[in-house]
Amino acid sequence: MPSEQRQARGLLERIGEDQSRLTYTLGETKKIIDEKVADHGQGLKLIVKALTDRENGGLKDISEIGAVGHRVVHGGEAFSETVIIDDHVQKAVEDHIQLAPLHNPPNLLGIVVAKELLPTVPQVAVFDTAFHQTMPAHAFMYAIPYELYENYRVRRYGFHGTSHRYVAARAAKLLGQKLEETNIITAHLGNGASLAAIKNGTCIDTSMGLTPLEGVAMGTRSGDIDPAIIPFLAKAKDMKVADIDTMLNKKSGVLGVSGISNDMRAIEKAADDGNQRAALALNMFCYRIKKYVGAYTAAIGNVHALVFTAGIGENSDTVRNLVCENLEPLGYSIDTQKNNGARGVELDIATPQSRSRILIIPTNEELMIAQDTYALACK
Ligand code: ADP
Repeated sequence: MPSEQRQARGLLERIGEDQSRLTYTLGETKKIIDEKVADHGQGLKLIVKALTDRENGGLKDISEIGAVGHRVVHGGEAFSETVIIDDHVQKAVEDHIQLAPLHNPPNLLGIVVAKELLPTVPQVAVFDTAFHQTMPAHAFMYAIPYELYENYRVRRYGFHGTSHRYVAARAAKLLGQKLEETNIITAHLGNGASLAAIKNGTCIDTSMGLTPLEGVAMGTRSGDIDPAIIPFLAKAKDMKVADIDTMLNKKSGVLGVSGISNDMRAIEKAADDGNQRAALALNMFCYRIKKYVGAYTAAIGNVHALVFTAGIGENSDTVRNLVCENLEPLGYSIDTQKNNGARGVELDIATPQSRSRILIIPTNEELMIAQDTYALACK
């Protein structure tokens, strides 16, 4: 920074399993380190060691690191923007573990270990929930007893905020408009999927809720269901709440309906080969996204751009086609020729007559985190 040149990138997988793997690229060099990594703290130490390795590291030594940006999933109502991490922030990340039991603990461990390794360097937290904090109460409240919000903060928070914010800013730039004057629907369609309604550059609604389970159907998550299904299953199948929770998060969505895979590539192929349930899963996935596009068009009014991003949004012309099919009355007219085969590039796939632009914008959450961190800690 500030040139935004990426020096290295990497991925550490299978943390806590017998054999973990760190894959990273430095310039043209690709390296793999197979080593048992017990937790995310140990993982971060391995990453810093790799980055400062004399032969293969990109940094001369650890003192070259000027700041650390942490992606933190849940900041609840406490954070509406990126912040420098002090004791109060760290405590808030800890306090929100109840709302994100799988994500906030490793996020916290990352912060603790980064502070231990780099005690004099600013640490910055970029929250996945922060971008959605501008939602008005009528969008974020559930129609359940108000006391549950007052005492337990049960409300809609939304996730993928860093991605929605990044692609919204890019969309405004591509349209040549000020972000504060731009209305956008962003569709982040990966394994997890969510849409956001962005009016005058700020989020007014999003499809995920208290947890990332609400909203459109996803790889393994059900998305919106009738909540009465839960007591029904508890009675009819004698299922425990924890088992129903696992079923809705891990065994539902595209995987649950198709019985084949959570991977959209496999679903599209199976549907092409005539598999009825794969075709049903694909149609359900796209139909539900289409319904949210309709709802958010109503919420926003005059939409300047509908943006597709993340693994499926960036790569699947089939999904983009099915979502946009017959949406001309709402102002979205897709140019199927431009759309077909478009993959991982910034591109306008709307016809010239389309009232709203339809954009593919590859997301870049890491760059967003780096930009926020640089702005707060290094300027
Ligand atoms: P995550 O939420 O895990 O970050 P990604 O954004 O990487 O997920 O998206 C993963 C999804 O993108 C998978 O369902 C994968 O099948 C899908 N995907 C990637 N490439 C393609 C493609 N060419 N066509 C259709 N789907 C694709």
